[in-house]
Amino acid sequence: MKPLEDRIAKQVASIPRSGIRDFFELVQGRDDVISLGVGEPDFSAPWHIREAAIFALEKGQTSYTSNLGLPSLRESISKYVEKQFHVDYDPASEVLVTVGVSEALDIACRALLDPGDEVIYHEPCYVSYSPSIVMAYGKAVSIQTRLEDKFALLAKDVEAAITDNTKIILLNFPTNPTGAIEPLDELEKIAQLAIKHDLIVISDEIYSELTYSGNNGIDPGEHTSIASLPGMKERTILLHGFSKAYAMTGFRLGYSCAPHVLTEAMMKIHQYSMLCAPIMSQLAAVEALENGDPEVERMRRAYAERRNLLLRRFKEMGMPCFAPGGAFYAFPDIRKFGLSSIEFAHRLLEEESVAVVPGTAFGKAGEGCVRCCYATAYDQLEIALEKIGNFIGRLQ
Ligand code: PLP
Repeated sequence: MKPLEDRIAKQVASIPRSGIRDFFELVQGRDDVISLGVGEPDFSAPWHIREAAIFALEKGQTSYTSNLGLPSLRESISKYVEKQFHVDYDPASEVLVTVGVSEALDIACRALLDPGDEVIYHEPCYVSYSPSIVMAYGKAVSIQTRLEDKFALLAKDVEAAITDNTKIILLNFPTNPTGAIEPLDELEKIAQLAIKHDLIVISDEIYSELTYSGNNGIDPGEHTSIASLPGMKERTILLHGFSKAYAMTGFRLGYSCAPHVLTEAMMKIHQYSMLCAPIMSQLAAVEALENGDPEVERMRRAYAERRNLLLRRFKEMGMPCFAPGGAFYAFPDIRKFGLSSIEFAHRLLEEESVAVVPGTAFGKAGEGCVRCCYATAYDQLEIALEKIGNFIGRLQ
């Protein structure tokens, strides 16, 4: 018998394991560790949202739904997206409810890519992007964003990466892992490039509610979806979900908003691979969209306070860090300590039992930085910061 390793499809065999996963295997089973590692809210989903899921079960709502998702949820999504992003989508034909943004991204890539088609995306980035592109037989073309630009994506770098084979530009602002937001003028120039070269844009807006203003870091900052710029709705797939702002990761619910033809193509894959997203999660999501704003704001403010604590303490301890405009990550610059990001993260874990993620887990542009997720309780963060201070005190 041939070794089983030889039976694995080439596309799958070519994908590396996630660097985050490698690192977290070291942390597993150690309850002395304070983790600033996992990109997940420390809050449970708000009670009224959990109650909606419980109520759905009590009423026996345990069936499949329409492949596109419950009509009532698609109505709520369409209203919410109009309010949040100022783009108008027809709930009957342009909204598809998915199993998280993860599924939406996967089926968007599979619906659009033929072998060899190129997708431009910016690194450091969420670990799924390159694998999702490769598994759809696309070619992942990364642009290395820079700390000096606060990890904004510069239109001139996008332009330089465009070839005759480019089909998609994949964007994520606010960005995981850097917390970067995109300056509006660069976003407008990227939109112009997409129009000029007739490209599709996939915009992952999963952190769009979690923004912080430049003034005090507490008030919400600005967020513009590229889908709302002139001429862009017709060529954009907007991805969003409930995992981050509503702290609903385990509900596994997301959605895409896109022109009918693209939605139909994605729906075909969704219909045969998922059938539909879970009905209790969909009913909980209706509640989230209809009545969840105050809870989202409460959590956003808590993240903002933690962000400010991190930035204040990093400054005091002499660790440079640009002020992230969104998400719940800080990406401090560790270059002056003379360690690689992997060495820094490993030694911090060994010597002080604090877990952060090496920047290189998100692409080589992450070298020189580590990702600190501040979706961690304030008192735990205070202890972690004290320990990080002790660690870098010894390095200086
Ligand atoms: N997109 C980004 C940028 C993320 O950071 C994550 C999760 O960390 C996801 C998508 C996955 O989201 P979901 O839980 O909706 O599948």
